[in-house]
This record gives sequence, structure tokens and C-alpha cells, in this order.
Amino acid sequence: MERKKVYLLFSGGLDSIIAAKLLKNLGFDVVGVHITSPFFEKDLEKLQDLANKLGIELKVVEAGDDYLEMLKSPVYGYGKNLNPCIDCKAYMLKKVKEVAGENGIIATGEVLGQRPMSQHLQAFNSIEKLSGLKGRVLRPLSGKLLPETDYEKEGVINREKLLDIRGRSRKKYPEILKKLGVNIEELPTPAGGCLLTEPSFSKKVKDLLEHGELSWENVRLLKIGRHFRLGNCKLIVGRNREENKRLEEFSRGGDIVIKVPNVPSPTAILRCKEEPSVELLKKAAGIVARYSDAKSEKEVKVALYKNGKLFKELTVEPLFDTKEFSVTG
Ligand code: SF4
Repeated sequence: MERKKVYLLFSGGLDSIIAAKLLKNLGFDVVGVHITSPFFEKDLEKLQDLANKLGIELKVVEAGDDYLEMLKSPVYGYGKNLNPCIDCKAYMLKKVKEVAGENGIIATGEVLGQRPMSQHLQAFNSIEKLSGLKGRVLRPLSGKLLPETDYEKEGVINREKLLDIRGRSRKKYPEILKKLGVNIEELPTPAGGCLLTEPSFSKKVKDLLEHGELSWENVRLLKIGRHFRLGNCKLIVGRNREENKRLEEFSRGGDIVIKVPNVPSPTAILRCKEEPSVELLKKAAGIVARYSDAKSEKEVKVALYKNGKLFKELTVEPLFDTKEFSVTG
């Protein structure tokens, strides 16, 4: 008889490891579906290594522009920061459904009561409703405590074999892992949290949202440098040699690259929606000068480049009071 496949939303965290192993031990072939995005990135090599060690298949799916659309106005709102956990989970499950097909068995490593926003019964219901998977999300770690899924009703899985973990405590985990034959010490840990739960990163994303600039490229840029908002322009100032290099690589036609010549200086990108005024350019140049080695000079000559060519030189005073322009406040 053909072994049944379960498509498990797989983050690589402890709960998804337990879910994978439990389902495997119950005789299913497990396909771990990992959703990745610049907001939540894991080391994919380690993740593959982990999947190999668990004996499961791994499929990686990149979040698309539809994730950004969802982030603009999540049906169930945001958590403490810009984390739209219920909508995010529903998004991920929709992606798992795309991999699994209409009748595939879908599972997650969610635990009842583990997270305040997305892991309580009502949230589970909302996630299922939003993803179009009512009754079709198996949560084996808390299965005994949850309403019967279609899979149990159809006899695909025996409810008695599911676990009854509840809450944030991980006291029971060592015993569960032992029973499942998992030695956690031997497994790679593909670390990486969710940046949408971090206050300062969330502020930067919010700034993009408010200015209609939310794109994956701009989200990737948020991970580099100091970010300033100057009217319709965004100024990003590198904090070290590596960031300076990456900013140069990110710069594209229309961007203005700013540097202080002849002294150690950050590289900065000024990206504008409309032609910036000289006043604005001076402010940007002043901020760049403030982070250069010429910051103690009264006047600093700053070079501005477009498409790799010098197009303007401005002599400015280093601008120290940047709080009102800083995106993170
Ligand atoms: S913490 Fe981040 S990745 Fe996890 S559900 Fe919330 S928004 Fe999604």
C-alpha cells in the first residue's frame, strides 16, 4: 500500500521537528514545506541538513508579492509590532496547500496556547478560515486537545496517537523527544527569528508602508545601514566597509550615491520619488559628513554621484541632530 504523504509547515524549530518525527513514526512520508522571505530567513543549507537527518523531504517556497499585499492590511491586524501572525500563518498554509494539492494532508507544529496572538483556539479557527482549510489542519502536538480534524474523521490518522501539549512550558519536551528517538544535540539548528516582531525593524517597515514603498528590494535594504527619511527621499548610510560595498551594489539608476572624498567615509544612497531640491541634498550630504572622518571639520566637501558619475559637489556643515530624520527615531 502506498504510504500517505503529510505536508508539514516546517520552520526547522523544535515544534516542527517533533511534528515531523511524530508523523514519520506514525508511518507517513513527511514533506516539510518551508516558507522563506527577507523577514524570516533561515540558513537553508542547515535546514536541508536537518531535513536529511530527520528523513523528510524539504520544499522551500519563497513568499511572493502577495505577502507584501497581505502585510499592508492584514485581516486580523498586527501583533505587538508589525507581525501579522494570524494572516501570516494563513498565508503560509495557503502555500503549503499549493504544494500539497487539494486533497493533501496538511500539518503544522503549532501548540495550543504557546503564542498569545496566533496559537489559541480562536486563532486556529481564523487561520483555517482565512486559508480555506477549515478542519484540514492537523496539529499533532496538541491534537488531543483540539476539535477533530477531517483526517481523524476520515480515519486517516488515529487521534489517540496525537499529543496533548499545551502552553509555553517545554517541561515535557525531553521525555517526548526521547520517546520519538530524537537526539536534539545531534541536529543542526537553522537559527533565525522573525524581523516583523522586532520594534526597530518594524518601524522601518512601517515607514516604507506609509510612503508606498513596500517592495522586497526595499525590505532587503532595511537590513543594511542607518535609515533616514527626508521628505520624499530615503537616505541609507552604510555603517562599515561591508555595508558600503553592499549599498553600492544595491544602487540603481536614479539613486544618488553620496560620499566624502579623501577621508574614510560611509557610502550612502539617496533614493527619491521626485527630483530632490538642493536644500534636501545639503541635508543628506550633512548627514553623510557627520558619519565620516571629517565630522569635526566646520565645512566638509561632499561628492554626489549618479550612474557612477560625479554630478555635484556640495560644501556643508556636518549635521549632528538627525533624530527628526531617523526612521527608527
Ligand atoms: S512571528 Fe513572523 S513569521 Fe511567525 S507568524 Fe508571526 S509574522 Fe509570521
